[in-house]
Amino acid sequence: MTDTATFSPLRTPTATRQVGHGDMFTDHMATATWTEGLGWSPLALGPREPIPMNPAMIGLHYAQVVFEGLKAHRQFDGSMAVFRPGENARRFQRSARRLAMPELPADDFLRAVDAVVGADESWLSDDPALSLYLRPLMFATESNLMLRPSREYRFLVIAFVAGGFFGDTVKPVSVWVSHDHTRATPGGTGDVKCAANYGPSFVAQLEAQRAGCQQVIWLDATERRWVEEMGGMNLFFVRGRGAGAAVVTPELTGTLLPGVTRDSLLTLARRLGLGVSEERVSLEQWRSEVRQGLITEVFACGTAAVVTPVGQVRDRDGDFRIGDGEPGAVTMALREALVDLQHGLAPDPDGWMRPVLG
Ligand SMILES: *Cc1c(COP(=O)(O)O)cnc(C)c1O
Repeated sequence: MTDTATFSPLRTPTATRQVGHGDMFTDHMATATWTEGLGWSPLALGPREPIPMNPAMIGLHYAQVVFEGLKAHRQFDGSMAVFRPGENARRFQRSARRLAMPELPADDFLRAVDAVVGADESWLSDDPALSLYLRPLMFATESNLMLRPSREYRFLVIAFVAGGFFGDTVKPVSVWVSHDHTRATPGGTGDVKCAANYGPSFVAQLEAQRAGCQQVIWLDATERRWVEEMGGMNLFFVRGRGAGAAVVTPELTGTLLPGVTRDSLLTLARRLGLGVSEERVSLEQWRSEVRQGLITEVFACGTAAVVTPVGQVRDRDGDFRIGDGEPGAVTMALREALVDLQHGLAPDPDGWMRPVLG
């Protein structure tokens, strides 16, 4: 773990582009609290500092904790803008509802994001490889160990300087199919961003690494047959090549996290004239369509990963390579379309970028 204090005096953390996911936190945080009967306190912006914590607080023991992830980008004209924060505000409300937590009004979510981005503008370099990753979080703070929802919560937003999640290149990642562990179950919490979804996934991630892979592929929990996600990212398959190519992403069955990047890429793919569909894809189908040359590219996407090609698949029933193992043309075109829009270099017909004043 890095002592973030050592970064503060620098104020120009752009010297290094090889920055990890959460190594370089900024100076400020926005917070608010919720109390039963009183509702939400006014939002406060202050220094990012340790938070007091009762050792019996419900969030710590029973995982009443939800979070979000979104990014602010430096625009081509020097201004700053956040990518589709309204979507994250809505998803944060859905996550809270699922965990029997109070919903934060979307306006408060947006104001908290604006406040942190505005206060920490100097951390956001004009290097397009860097962005500000924002992490809204809400957790149960009441000290009580009854098995019931907390009557007190804290909401906060912190931020860090983010490079590429997989480094600055778009080198394809290798993936390992998990047959022993699943991420989400029907009726569970796989379609919301709650902290309790992630700790249990680490053991499979470690297994993937022991198998020489960077990421884990999740199959559905019921049949262990349908491909759902890669680690904490959504997946896309590309069928065909050139003008006739189509992108396919697993449909939202309730056990997949509905990614904002996933949704954005579906729109951008249509705009690029690609075929687009949401359907279930089985592991068997993935393998055989790759062997037949029908599936030509595969990539993962998410706020942190942006668009990351998948090159190799390792599986107990036989490994296979996607195409020639290099980033594909459709993958790179979609990545560029997304990144250009995020930096104000492409038209934004749906108003996805929310400007923030420094
Ligand atoms: C956050 C997340 C994603 C990606 O969502 P984005 O909104 O695109 O960042 C995908 N899968 C899981 C499991 C996630 O937690």
